[in-house]
Amino acid sequence: MRQIEHHYINGAFVASHGRGTADLHNPATEAVIGQVRLGDATDAAAAIAAAHAALPAQAARSVAERLEQLSRYRDAMAARKDALREAIIEEYGAPSARSQWMAEHPVQVIEDAMTVLRQFPFERQVGQARVRLLPVGVAGLITPWNSNASFICGKLATALAAGCTAVVKPSEMSALQTQVVMEALHAAQLPAGVANIVNGLGEDVGAALSASPAIAKISFTGSTGTGRAILRASADTFKRTTLELGGKSPTILLDDADPAQAALLAVQAGFMNSGQACIAGTRILVPESRRAAFEAALTAAVQAVRSGDPTDPQTDVGPMVSARQWQRVQGYIHTGLAEGARLLAGGEGRPQGLPQGWFVRPTLFTDVRNDMTIAREEIFGPVLSIIGYRDDEDAIAIANDTTYGLSALVIGTDRERAGRVARRIQSGRVLVNTLAHEPLAPFGGMKQSGIGRESGAWGLEAFLEPQTVLEG
Ligand code: NAD
Repeated sequence: MRQIEHHYINGAFVASHGRGTADLHNPATEAVIGQVRLGDATDAAAAIAAAHAALPAQAARSVAERLEQLSRYRDAMAARKDALREAIIEEYGAPSARSQWMAEHPVQVIEDAMTVLRQFPFERQVGQARVRLLPVGVAGLITPWNSNASFICGKLATALAAGCTAVVKPSEMSALQTQVVMEALHAAQLPAGVANIVNGLGEDVGAALSASPAIAKISFTGSTGTGRAILRASADTFKRTTLELGGKSPTILLDDADPAQAALLAVQAGFMNSGQACIAGTRILVPESRRAAFEAALTAAVQAVRSGDPTDPQTDVGPMVSARQWQRVQGYIHTGLAEGARLLAGGEGRPQGLPQGWFVRPTLFTDVRNDMTIAREEIFGPVLSIIGYRDDEDAIAIANDTTYGLSALVIGTDRERAGRVARRIQSGRVLVNTLAHEPLAPFGGMKQSGIGRESGAWGLEAFLEPQTVLEG
C-alpha cells in the first residue's frame, strides 16, 4: 500500500494541511493500492504564495537560464521513465505499448518546450513600436487523469519557459504518477517556488486556483463541464485561460477508401488510449452507397481488438480508469441500445473471462443517427458509432453538426478530394489518411472543445502578455 502524504511546495515535500484522503486503485484488479492525502484551500494558498514569491526572479531569468532549468527537469524525468511506467500500468492500466509511450512522452514535451524557447522572439519591432512579450504571472495548471505526467510536464515546461511560475493541480486519481513527477522536480533542483504541485479535489484545490486573485492564468485540460466552471470562476479576476476540453471527433470514410485499410485506421483513431482520449474518433461516417463493405470491415477490425490485462503485450485496450468511468461507459452502451442503435460488436458487461477489473467490451454500433445521445456526448471509452451519409456535402454537414471541434480524420484514396473535405471540418486539427502528430503545431479545440491553443509558439504565447513600448 502506498501512502502519498505530501505536496510539493516551495522546493520541498510538505505535509498536507487537508485531512481527507482518496483511495488509489489498480483498475485491472479493482484492488485498493494506496491512498493520497487531499490538499485543501490552505495548501493551495501556500503553493500560490510560493509561486508568487518566486515570480520576479523567474521572469527576470534569461532564456539560457530557463533552458538550463528545463534541461535538468527533462533529465530528471528521463531518469524516472521506468518508475513512471510502473505507476502508469498499476494506477491507470494502460497497455504495454501505450504505457511505454506515456512514460517517455513527458521527456519529449519538455524537449519540445525547449525547442520553442530557443527560437522564440520575445521582443519584436512593429513599425515604430517595440513589442515585448512578458510572462503573464503565476499560472494555475489543472490536469486530468488520462495522460497525467505528459499534461503536467507539457504545461509546466511551457509556463517556466515563458518566465512564469506555477501551481499544478493534477487529478487525484493519478497520485502515484504525480509522485514520480514531484520527485523529478525535486531532483532537478529548480529554484524554490517556481513549480509547485498540490494533490486534491477539483472542487477544493482546483476551485481555489480558479478563484485566487494571485493567479493570472489557468491552463486546464479536462471535461467541457469543468472547463465551463473554471471559465466562470476565472471571470471575476479576468484570468487568461487556456481550456483543452472534450471531443466527439468524426472519422469520415470516403467512398473511394479501401474498407480494410480504412477500418484499421478508424478503429485505431477510436480506441487510442483505451478510448479514453479527447481526440478519439468516435463518430465513423460511412457512405450509404458502400455501407455494407465498410460495416463488415469495421466489425472485423473491432472484433480483432483485445481488451484485457494491461501487462499482456497482446492487449490493445486496457481497463477504464475507475468504477465510475466503467459505469459511465456501460450507461452509454445501454442508452445506445435503448435509442435504437444496432450492435455490430461488443455490448454491455465485461469481456468474457474477465470477471474482475474495469474492463469493457470494444463496442461498435451502427444505424446511429447524429442526434442520438451516443453521437452527441463524449463517452470516453472504446465505443464507436457508425453513421451513414449520402454524399460528401452530407458527410461534412454531419461531421460539423456537433458542439465539439477538437479533431477529425478523413480517409480516402483521392488525396486531393480527401484534403478538400478535411479543410471544411470545423475542428482544431484535421488529419488526412494518418494519425501523425506534429508537436510544434498548435493543438486545441474549436467550439466547446476549448479556448486557445497549446504546443509550439502558440502554446508559449498563451503564457505571455504583449506590451507595446513607444519612445519619443
Ligand atoms: P475533469 O474535468 O473531471 O477533471 C479534470 C481536472 O479538473 C481534475 O484535476 C479535476 O480534479 C479538476 N476539477 C474538477 N472540478 C474542478 C473545478 N470546479 N475547478 C477546478 N478544477 C476542477 O476531467 P477528467 O475526467 O479528469 O478527464 C477527462 C476529460 O478530459 C474528458 O472530457 C476529455 O475529453 C478531457 N481531455 C481533454 C484533452 C484536450 O487536450 N482537449 C486532453 C485530455 C483529456
